[in-house]
Amino acid sequence: MTRLTRALSAAAVSLAVLLLAAACQTDRDRPAESPTPLLLISIDGFRHDYIERFDSPTIDRLIREGLHADSMHHAFPTKTFATHYTMVTGRYPGTHGVVANNMWDPRREASFSLGDREAVNDGFWYQGGEPIWVTAEQQGLTAATYFWPGSEAVIQRTRPTHFKPYDGRVPHEERIDQVLDWLAMPSERRPDFLTLYFSRVDSRGHGAGPAAPETLAAAEEVDARLGDLLAGLEAMGMLDRINILLVSDHGMDAVSRERTIALDEYLDLSKLRVSDWGPAAQIWEGEMSAGEIVAALEGAPHLRAWTRENIPDRYRFGSHYRVPDVLVEADPGWLISSKPYMANPDPPRGMHGWDPALAVMHGFFIARGPAFAAGSRSPAVRSVDLYPLMSELLGLEPAENEGRLAVFEPYLEARRALDYRVERFDCEAGPVEARIAPEHMALHVGEFIHVLDRRGEGRFASIDLSFVIDGDRARGVVDGRSLGECRRLP
Ligand code: AMP
Ligand code: ZN
Ligand code: ZN
Repeated sequence: MTRLTRALSAAAVSLAVLLLAAACQTDRDRPAESPTPLLLISIDGFRHDYIERFDSPTIDRLIREGLHADSMHHAFPTKTFATHYTMVTGRYPGTHGVVANNMWDPRREASFSLGDREAVNDGFWYQGGEPIWVTAEQQGLTAATYFWPGSEAVIQRTRPTHFKPYDGRVPHEERIDQVLDWLAMPSERRPDFLTLYFSRVDSRGHGAGPAAPETLAAAEEVDARLGDLLAGLEAMGMLDRINILLVSDHGMDAVSRERTIALDEYLDLSKLRVSDWGPAAQIWEGEMSAGEIVAALEGAPHLRAWTRENIPDRYRFGSHYRVPDVLVEADPGWLISSKPYMANPDPPRGMHGWDPALAVMHGFFIARGPAFAAGSRSPAVRSVDLYPLMSELLGLEPAENEGRLAVFEPYLEARRALDYRVERFDCEAGPVEARIAPEHMALHVGEFIHVLDRRGEGRFASIDLSFVIDGDRARGVVDGRSLGECRRLP
């Protein structure tokens, strides 16, 4: 043997060993039985109450045949990248670190913006969470994503087997066809977890306003495409052999130039860094300290400013190092901007990004498939609980997360439609409606919908929230403030 052939045969042997190891690895890791495929679909900016406002035959069908929650409580800030990443990781932005659509990383001294392709593709920004497609791929399943924030980046050395670089111009038909093609693959290669994403309802919502005819027309078009998807699945004989989660990432509220606050009326912007604007501004110390920034904003109308340590606990936002020194949130319907930007001749008519408990910021949620009994109804659910739900549906060992599977378990175990109970109370602080499910409740108070976990018979709580029902009386605390004595209404 020459030195060359010896080297070549040695290389061939090591290659064979590697291939064998890889084959064994896939054999060992892939579960013996494939789970029911799971398709997660997001309609960006689809406020939960839009379905009452337009003709939506497909969504109506999904509701009739599946589990429908009144709405979905997202995470703060109610912005696309932050909320989408929470849905797939079960962690709050304050933990996973995708803290806005526009972020500043003080350690790397770098910015992220959803329009910056290089940043969007860079796994660095997403390392604080484990998306469900990573959990799936690492446990031997196959993932295929037709758009999802984070899906193009390598996270924990993993990317979905099939993914698409984001391009909002791809016709909706093409996205649907690709998902149907993926599902038509031979079973050993067929993806187990898939995503679909549509942005037009959000962009119309920004341009024309929430529930404007143009926005609802976009919703109607998405409904029609979902109809094509269901027809395609039915033709393949798959409609009852797939679990579908249909969600949106936040709601939408009306805004106007008149309800805009010029931050530069209160602060010298050359002395600090503002990494995000809008319903909430994220501000970093510069020549001004956090305390000075908050002091300068004291008394400014229609906003509240907090240093990082004072952000309300309910937002679960204080912990990550990308959370800014100062967070400023405007009143609902108000925006934080600057004088030069306010000269924009075409200001938005719709926006989102405020407190996720505001009803107008709630997204929506429907689940249909063999795991869910047709006609089931739930009070508002929490987006952070989707990751444990999806792990369960796919038979995966979930990564560490801040969600709670218990909320969905009664629905997964139900053979027949599961509904919830509505109880109304007249509290000293005003009327309250409690929508009660086996493991959680939604507390409707004024313009807010809070989600609380069951802690016992008639006892519900969450951070800075509690509601205790005792016969015809109840007591509650919202954001640390008592609702006073509550009496049951007939
Ligand atoms: P938002 O205003 O927070 O709802 O952001 C919505 C916008 O996010 C959409 O109009 C898209 O342009 C953008 N977007 C959504 N998904 C992605 C993605 N995976 N990569 C880049 N941009 C995205
Ligand atoms: Zn969005
Ligand atoms: Zn938007």
